[in-house]
Amino acid sequence: MNLFTETNLSPDILKAIGELGYESPTEIQKQTIPFILSDIRDLIALAQTGTGKTAAFSLPILDMIDDTSRKIQFLVLCPTRELCLQITKDIKNYTKYMPSIKTTAVYGGSSIMDQIRSLKEKPQIIVGTPGRVIDLINRKALDFSAIHWLVLDEADEMLSMGFKDDLETIIKETPDTKQTFLFSATMSKEVERISKNYLTNPHRISVGSINEVKKNIKHFYYVAGYRHKKEALKRLIDSNPNQYSIIFCRTRMETQEVADFLMQNGYAADALHGDLSQAQRDTVMKKFRLKNIDILVATDVAARGLDVDSLTHVVHFSLPDDPEVFVHRSGRTGRAGKDGISIALIKPEESRKLKQIKSVTKIDITEAKIPTGEDVIKAQVAGVFENLLEVHEDFFEFNDALIPDLSAFTKEELVHKLLQFQLKDLALYYKDRHDLTDQKLSSRDDDRGGRDRDRGRDRDRDRGRDRDRGPRGDRDGRSDRGERRGDRGGKPRQRDENMTRFFFNLGKKDQLKKLDVLEIINKATSSKGNKRAEIGNIEILEKFSFFEIEKGFKNELLGNIQSMKFKGKDMRAEEAN
Ligand code: AMP
Repeated sequence: MNLFTETNLSPDILKAIGELGYESPTEIQKQTIPFILSDIRDLIALAQTGTGKTAAFSLPILDMIDDTSRKIQFLVLCPTRELCLQITKDIKNYTKYMPSIKTTAVYGGSSIMDQIRSLKEKPQIIVGTPGRVIDLINRKALDFSAIHWLVLDEADEMLSMGFKDDLETIIKETPDTKQTFLFSATMSKEVERISKNYLTNPHRISVGSINEVKKNIKHFYYVAGYRHKKEALKRLIDSNPNQYSIIFCRTRMETQEVADFLMQNGYAADALHGDLSQAQRDTVMKKFRLKNIDILVATDVAARGLDVDSLTHVVHFSLPDDPEVFVHRSGRTGRAGKDGISIALIKPEESRKLKQIKSVTKIDITEAKIPTGEDVIKAQVAGVFENLLEVHEDFFEFNDALIPDLSAFTKEELVHKLLQFQLKDLALYYKDRHDLTDQKLSSRDDDRGGRDRDRGRDRDRDRGRDRDRGPRGDRDGRSDRGERRGDRGGKPRQRDENMTRFFFNLGKKDQLKKLDVLEIINKATSSKGNKRAEIGNIEILEKFSFFEIEKGFKNELLGNIQSMKFKGKDMRAEEAN
């Protein structure tokens, strides 16, 4: 079966997917479509996001669904709101020419009353997150008595997010006669257990053995102690210009710390984790999809909802405990026929963990040295030329009159000057900076006691210095006593409970000065009569800035600033964290 037209899918479905540009079924679709169309057994499918699994389970079910019945026949359970909306969108696209079929998404963080209202339209298909489905069952808004097909999508994720009891409750609400299809990226013990309890004699399929998944992904690891990790990360980013990447962290706090570090160093980065509100997560994902930011720092769970095909790099800032998560994270790059690079930062005491990942996944992870300042500059020069040679059109009228007399310089001298100008900031940053190339894996086993001891030691070491600025403390190598991250003026920066911190879209490149920021804040918060907003720390970076103001003025500032302009440019502020 090499073309969809060779399947038995109905013309309505073929027409809809044809319009979406689907011609040939993906590997998983080749396996599931004929199976679901012809077999009554349950199914366990090991497949990752990006393999086309949504179409793999929904197309054959849509082919068999009874459009004359107004009962719920097909239920998809998935871990996150983003995935829920994505699956719903896909199914609605596939049913474009099936006007009697209705699909409703039910998920947390959104009005339950609106969802109850749309359930009154009697959809045949429900896509939901477990918590909200339970709420709706309790309110008697869902009747699962006629369900034929139950899909547990990203089952491993749902279980690791603590939805086990909810899943069991929901499954018990559905008839025994249904067919259950479980999709999971990994086959954890919990997934095995739930399959054993709730699936009958399941057929098993697996798409892309681990070896196939990584064929076009190159894996490297770099040794960096806890104290040097962020500096190492900066060097890796600087030596890979033009990247579009996700940096995976283990905890929400680590995610925010790494993202703050990158933003404060002038990178177009942001954080995605569960401590952010749904609206904040949506905004970050949108910015990343639109490439307004090109580095996303995320936890494994939060990154689940994001579907992007063109990542150049995946960075494991911290190693996951489960080797399969390593494969899963890495598989976010190298999609759609492109090459990808996976980079792992390994602490010296993590040699055993690295060995375990290598042996379980059979991935060849090559050791590489953290780039020196010289390596960074070389890579940046190559990046400039790569970008230059990609420009094939004229964006503005150009004539020789725009260029001053340059006859005193040779062509090479001019290129040299332009590069020096372009890379000045980076070159100054790396001038006289220590290399981090001597970091080695420790031969000592990384047993828990050892790890905990190291963590304690790292923490103690960090207390007296700014750990984000590398071995010498701050950027200029001055004494770092009393200085904190993000404060360039030497004054200790304290997080004040009464202040709200904002991201501001203008920076040094827009000739923004502290005085301008003060004026802008005063103007945007002046509607409360004589009362002035207290202003805290202001940080002006290359492309954007951060400032703090008294909490009570937050809404006023956000409301006014968007209609103001600075030197003709639109202003945009968002709460930073
Ligand atoms: P999924 O794994 O379901 O998240 O799908 C990944 C992406 O592949 C989605 O953007 C789908 O629209 C797309 N897709 C799924 N099946 C096909 C196909 N047979 N041909 C082309 N694109 C597909």
